[in-house]
Amino acid sequence: MANNAEKRKLIFSKTNGRCGYCGEPLLPGWHVDHIIPKYLGGTNAIENKIPSCASCNIRKSINTPDEFKLLIKTRLIKKLDNAVRKDLYYLSSYLGDLWCATILGDYMMLVEKIEAAPISFYFERDK
Ligand SMILES: [Zn+2]
Repeated sequence: MANNAEKRKLIFSKTNGRCGYCGEPLLPGWHVDHIIPKYLGGTNAIENKIPSCASCNIRKSINTPDEFKLLIKTRLIKKLDNAVRKDLYYLSSYLGDLWCATILGDYMMLVEKIEAAPISFYFERDK
């Protein structure tokens, strides 16, 4: 049975030292993520483990990869939504209704594109 250092080395090599989610090179202190969370029946087997940067691991939290993809999109849309709606309300007194409606229409198309965009994690891609 491999010791912890050997296991980490094996996990690290699964993605050639890159985060299994975003693909960025791993920095010291990288995390080991359970692809399928343990509470959902994910095992401690090496097949269920992937190296992850701290940022991706914290964002993924206890979610499955598919749930994480949805979270990424939702987070982006929420940030855009906050910015667009707040600023559009402020700008409405200068822009007029027609321009506000045009911008809002384009924004809604952008949201649809984000929702439809396929997200693939680094570990899912062909290398
Ligand atoms: Zn990452």
